[in-house]
Amino acid sequence: VVSRGSWLLYEPGMTPVLGARLHLETELAVAVAQGQFLVYYQPKASCRSGAITGFEALIRWLHPTRGIVPPSEFIPILEETGLIDRVGAWVLRTACQQLAAWDLLGHDRLTMAVNVSLRQLVDLTYPESVKAILSESGVPAERLELELTESLLMQDVRQTEVLLFRLKALGVRLSIDDFGTGYSSLAYLKRLPIDTVKIDRTFVQDITTNPNDASITRAIIGMARSLNLSLIAEGVETEAQLSKLVAEHCDTVQGYFIGKPMPATDTVALLASGWRL
Ligand code: C2E
Ligand code: CA
Ligand code: CA
Ligand code: CA
Repeated sequence: VVSRGSWLLYEPGMTPVLGARLHLETELAVAVAQGQFLVYYQPKASCRSGAITGFEALIRWLHPTRGIVPPSEFIPILEETGLIDRVGAWVLRTACQQLAAWDLLGHDRLTMAVNVSLRQLVDLTYPESVKAILSESGVPAERLELELTESLLMQDVRQTEVLLFRLKALGVRLSIDDFGTGYSSLAYLKRLPIDTVKIDRTFVQDITTNPNDASITRAIIGMARSLNLSLIAEGVETEAQLSKLVAEHCDTVQGYFIGKPMPATDTVALLASGWRL
């Protein structure tokens, strides 16, 4: 069995953890070959108009016996095995096709956010693949938002910078996911072509009960404002959290209070219902 470029011998006496891990890797290779993945979509709403402004694409693995497996269980393995390139391109293509499908139903101003792994940006041809997928689906680049995590920006800064500018040149929007959890640096926010900051769920969670989280959130919103970035809060679960974020002039909200990630068919029903915050 090949694992991260080195050879491992699978023996009956191997620790159960390692055995289970190899089993999962094998199952994932089959899942990729057979296309056992689904994309769910979670709505985002505008604090100002209350309308749904777009969705975030979130991958699910429809395992033949276990049912739906969450990404936390398999994304790290896809990243380590390099399968994320193929799967990531599939998610992006599926999400862009969905955006085109909403357009045909008259919901032609929605945005689509897609998560991108650091591992995908190591491939210098990534912007080319984004460009090809955009043109093949006919979706305007500015309605696609790529969500990147902060840790990603901390890696090889120079190469990441080049890649982000190339992606930005395509016209897509770039956002920093889980903002506030890493080594946030105002310097890179200023230097890089970032459009949106997404406040991490952990701050939103305790925004109404913990004064520190409330201050951090207020500080992030203020900073985003001064740098002319748009601001989205994730993990909004209660009306109280929502009111607080609206009072702090957050632009967009996302979370179970607005809607859980759902299959494409359910998004159509939600959009047709004229849902408002
Ligand atoms: P993320 O990008 O930070 O996505 C938000 C996660 O929080 C999602 O979990 C979502 O279902 C969950 N969530 C949304 N609203 C709420 C809420 O109000 N309360 C709580 N408790 N949770 C909420 P999910 O779908 O399990 O995804 C987990 C992570 O997996 C994502 O975190 C993202 O980092 C990664 N991921 C998902 N899809 C993809 C993908 O296509 N490509 C890559 N590279 N990563 C992905
Ligand atoms: Ca995300
Ligand atoms: Ca996030
Ligand atoms: Ca997260």
